[in-house]
Amino acid sequence: MKTTEQRMPFRTSFRLRTFLLIFLLGLMLLFAVSETLRFTYRDAVIQQKLSELRYTCNIAVGELQGQTIQEALTDNMVKELGWVADYCGGRLLITDQSCRVVYDSFGAVTGRYCVSEEIIRTLYGIDYSKYRSGAGYMEFTLPVATRSRLAEPDMTVNGVLVVSASASWVTEELQTMTRQARLLQIAGSMILLAAAFIISSSLVNPWKRLLYTLRQVLDGDLNVTFEMEGGYAETDQIIDTFNGILERLRLLDASRQEFVSNVSHELKTPITSIRVLADSLISEENVPVDIYREFMADISDEIDRETQIINDLLSLVRLDRSSAELEVTQVNINAFVEKILTRVRPIAKQRNIEIIFESFRPVTADIDETKFSLALTNLVENGVKYNNDGGFVRVSLNADHKYFFIRVADSGVGIPEDALDKIFERFYRVDKARSRETGGTGLGLAITRSVIQLHQGSIRVDSELGKGTVFTVRVPLKAVSQKGEAAE
Ligand code: ADP
Repeated sequence: MKTTEQRMPFRTSFRLRTFLLIFLLGLMLLFAVSETLRFTYRDAVIQQKLSELRYTCNIAVGELQGQTIQEALTDNMVKELGWVADYCGGRLLITDQSCRVVYDSFGAVTGRYCVSEEIIRTLYGIDYSKYRSGAGYMEFTLPVATRSRLAEPDMTVNGVLVVSASASWVTEELQTMTRQARLLQIAGSMILLAAAFIISSSLVNPWKRLLYTLRQVLDGDLNVTFEMEGGYAETDQIIDTFNGILERLRLLDASRQEFVSNVSHELKTPITSIRVLADSLISEENVPVDIYREFMADISDEIDRETQIINDLLSLVRLDRSSAELEVTQVNINAFVEKILTRVRPIAKQRNIEIIFESFRPVTADIDETKFSLALTNLVENGVKYNNDGGFVRVSLNADHKYFFIRVADSGVGIPEDALDKIFERFYRVDKARSRETGGTGLGLAITRSVIQLHQGSIRVDSELGKGTVFTVRVPLKAVSQKGEAAE
C-alpha cells in the first residue's frame, strides 16, 4: 500500500507549517519591537546630548555684552568661547545680522560672509539642529542677542551662533547599543526557535495520538478505544465519530464471524448425514436392495438440502452486495401474486391447507419480478410450513396512492414474542427440528427482508403463539432511485 508521503511527495506537514508560522511571525515581532526600541533610544540619546550642548552654549552666548557683537567679543569672551568649542569637541561660529562671520573658533573664516537658510531662519528666531550620523557630528544654531551693561536689556537678535559638535560619543553609544540589540535579537531568535518547535510539536500531539490509534485499527486491532483527553474540540468530534465507526466495525466483525461459523455448521450437517448413511451401508454386508434404495433416497435428500442451502446463500450474497441492482419493470401485482400462490398450492394441498387470495384493487407497481417472487414465495411457503394441517393462509393485496401492501396471514403455530425480532437473522430458526423437517435453511426471511429493502420497502411481523402469524409488506408503487427519489 502506498504511504501518504509516496502519494503526495510535496505535501508539507502541519507541524512544519505551524513551526514556520510561529517562528516567522515571532521573528518579525521581535525585530519590529527591538528596532523600534533602538530608534527610540537613539533619538533620546541624541536629544539629550543636543540639549546639554545647547544649554552650555546658551550660557556662553548669554554672557555677550555690548551694543554689537563685535563689541561684546572681548578677549575674555573669545577665550571662553574657545573653551566651549573644546567642550563641544567641534567648531563655533558667530555671525552678525548681515551673516558676516565675526568669530570662528578655528580662525579660518573670520570676516567672511556665511549665508545659509538655517542662519537666516535663526535670525528670525527659528532654531535649527541636526544629527549627521554619517559624518559623525551634530549641528545646531542659537540666536545671539547681546545687551548693553548700562542700557535696559535689548533682546533683539543681532547674530547667530553656529555650532558643529562632535557626535563621536553618541555614535559610540549607539554602536554599543546596536551590538547589544543584535545580541538580544540572536538570543531571542534562538528562544523563538525552541518555542516554535515545542509549540508546533504540542499542537500536533492530539493528531499524532489519533493517527497512532488509527494505525492500530488499520493493523486489524478493532479492540482499541480512542481517548479524548487533551485534544481539541475538532479532534474530540473525530474521535467520537471513530469510536462509533469502531463499534459498528466490531459488530460487523462479530456478525461476520458468527455467520461464517453458522454457514460451516449448516453445510456440515447434510454432509455428516450423508457420511453416516454411506458408512452404515459400507459396514453392512449383503444389504437388501430396499434398504439400499431407502438410504440412497436419504442421501439424495441431504444433497438436495445442501444444494438448497448453497442456493439460498448465493441469493443472499447477491442481494447483500451494495451494488445489487434491481431489474425493475412495471408488473401487474394481482397476477403476480396469483402466479406465486398457484405454485405453492399443491404443497399446501398435501396438508389440506387452504390458500386464499384477497385483492382489494388492481395494483401495478415497479418491481424486480424475479427477486420479489423469491421474497413473497418465502412468506407464503412459511405460512404453509409453520401451519397446522387443515389451516389457512390468507394473502391480501391493497394499495394507496404511494405504496402497495401485501399481507400474509396464517393460522399456524405462531412465533414467540422474544423471537419476533430475530427471525430475520440469517440461520435463525425458532424450532430447528421443525424447520429442518420442512427443508428450511433459516435463510428465507433474511432473503425476503433484503429484497424488500432493495425495493425501499418495509416488512413487519405480528404473531400470537398457537394462533397464527401476519407478515405485512409495504413497497412503493414507483421504483425508488438510490437517492430516494421516485423514478419517472
Ligand atoms: P426457515 O428456512 O427455517 O423457514 P426462515 O428465515 O424463513 O427460515 O424463517 C426463520 C424462522 O422463523 C423459521 O425457522 C420459523 O421458526 C420462523 N417463522 C417464519 N415464518 C413463520 C410463520 N409464518 N409462522 C411461524 N413461524 C415462522
